[in-house]
Amino acid sequence: MFKRPDGKTIAVLAALLFFAVSAAVSMGVVFHGIHILNGEEARPKPTTTTVRTTTAGAKKTTGAKKPATAGEKTTVKADGSHVIYLTFDDGPGPYTEKLLGILDQYDVKATFFVTNVRPKYQTCIAKEVWAGHAVGVHSFSHEYRKIYRSEAAYWSDFNRMNDIIKKQTGKPVTLLRFPGGSSNTVSRNYKEGIMKRLAKQADAKGLTYVDWNVYDGDAGETTSPHQVYKNIIRGVKGRKKSIVLRHDVKSYTVNAMDRTIRWCLAHGYTFKVLEPGGFTVHHGVNN
Ligand code: ZN
Repeated sequence: MFKRPDGKTIAVLAALLFFAVSAAVSMGVVFHGIHILNGEEARPKPTTTTVRTTTAGAKKTTGAKKPATAGEKTTVKADGSHVIYLTFDDGPGPYTEKLLGILDQYDVKATFFVTNVRPKYQTCIAKEVWAGHAVGVHSFSHEYRKIYRSEAAYWSDFNRMNDIIKKQTGKPVTLLRFPGGSSNTVSRNYKEGIMKRLAKQADAKGLTYVDWNVYDGDAGETTSPHQVYKNIIRGVKGRKKSIVLRHDVKSYTVNAMDRTIRWCLAHGYTFKVLEPGGFTVHHGVNN
C-alpha cells in the first residue's frame, strides 16, 4: 500500500531533484580543457556541434543531441565568465543605425555578418567597425540558388562582399557565416556535398566560419519583441559561451535589444566580439 512520505523523505527527494536539474543545466562539459557545449540550435537543426578554442585549435564533436535545456528554470547567476557573442545577420538595413545606438548606449560590442542585399545601407558597415564591433562576410547576394551552385560561385560571392567591406573599412575580413549556417540542407538542392567542401576550403584559406548555439527565433518563428527577448534569455541561461543568432533587418529584433541587454548585464554576462581564429561554434554539416 502507498505510504504517505514524511517531511524528511520529501526534503531528500527535493534535494535529489535539485541536483539532477543543476547537472542538466550545466551542459558545458570540460574535456581536456575544451568546453564542449550541447547543440540545440533551433534552425536549422545540426546533428552535431563542434566548439573550437583559440589556443588549442583542437576540435571535439559531440554526438547525438540531448533535449534542449531551454525553458528550465534556473537560479544560476552568471559570474562574469559567462560570455555572450551577439551576432547579427543579413544587414545592414533600415534598423541597423538604431541598433548601433542601443549597443553604444550600453557599450556592448557585437558581430555583424553583412550582406549587400540593401546596398544603400553599405556605409553602416564602416560605422559598425568604427564603433568597435566585428564584421564578417555573410553573402553578397544571399541567394542560395546562386551561391550554392558551385564552390567557385560561393567564393566569388564571398569575395564580392569582402571587397565591399574593404571599401568601407579599409580591410578585408577572415570571419564568415554561411547563409543558412554550415548545417543548412537547402544547398543540397543545388549541389550535393557542397557544404562539406566549403567548410574544408574555409579552413584551408585560414578563414573562421561561425555558426551559433542560441537562436532568437526571429527568422520566421516569431515577430514579437517579447518572444525574441524570451528566446534569448532561455538560450543563454547557464551557458558559458553563447553565440546568439539574430537579424538586424528585423524591427522586432532591434526592438527587443534594449531589454535583452539590460537583463544580460544585470545577470553578470559579458558581451564580446568574435575574433578570427577565436572561439567559434560549428554545426554538423548535413550536405
Ligand atoms: Zn542570412
